[in-house]
Amino acid sequence: MALTSIKPMLKIAQRDSYAVAAFNPVDYASMKAMVAAAQECDAPVIIQTSAKTIRYYGHEALFSWFKPLAENADVPVALHLDHGKDLDMIKKCIDIGWTSVMIDASDKPFEENLEITKKVVAWADAKGVGVEAEIGEIGGVEEDIVVAEEDAHLADPNEAERFCKAVELGVFAAAIGTAHGYYHGEPDVQFDLIEEINKRTATPMALHGGTGLDKETIARCIALGCAKVNISTNLKHVFIDSFVDHKKENPTDYEPLSYLKAQFQALKALFADKITEFGGAGKGGNMLKEIEG
Ligand SMILES: [Zn+2]
Repeated sequence: MALTSIKPMLKIAQRDSYAVAAFNPVDYASMKAMVAAAQECDAPVIIQTSAKTIRYYGHEALFSWFKPLAENADVPVALHLDHGKDLDMIKKCIDIGWTSVMIDASDKPFEENLEITKKVVAWADAKGVGVEAEIGEIGGVEEDIVVAEEDAHLADPNEAERFCKAVELGVFAAAIGTAHGYYHGEPDVQFDLIEEINKRTATPMALHGGTGLDKETIARCIALGCAKVNISTNLKHVFIDSFVDHKKENPTDYEPLSYLKAQFQALKALFADKITEFGGAGKGGNMLKEIEG
């Protein structure tokens, strides 16, 4: 059984100074490519479904894809809900078997965000499910969540400390200058803020908006304590481009499976590349042993 909560997963990653890659699947094949890449790299991986994807396919279908893939892997695989805002959807994820969920109440005032998060943590703890919450507000466009530049604001280290002392999270997303989607202009990542927050909380941090950050920036964030790096936009581009490129290169090919194979290989290569870049390669089997005892 390789279905793993992000809680022990990210504690180990943070302790050993690397990050687990988190990808957003758009269909069965992209999810399968995530597990195949993790398996090939001997690395842990986080499969994170967006709320939009859950609304499209339903909880049951997504979980039925995930379960056998994770059970047959010998590396830790987590099924995570990315940016959960709907409490009914979150509760259903926990009940069906997601190993972790994100409650994103970052658009609410601090106290309200904390209260909602506490409620989700109580549900999650009862099932051994890890929770991610967000402090500050990360700008940009993520699926159907749009945070305008003027609303985006950085996390406050005092609030981060209070938040992480009040609830035991598996990981938290702090707004530290990254944005969702591709960047317009240079991202202004606040390394001092990451360092300060990590000094004051014992909780691993998630780096949102990983697509479009250069390798040096990501490596520095990981060295400062980011244990989860989210890649979504990048995947969407490879998903579409690999399909279109196959058509351009093989204009008379109308065999769907050859398109799906080309797409699978392109996605798997992207995932393996990111997993390796974030330092997860070679860590999967040992992590699983450590978690399962
Ligand atoms: Zn995000």
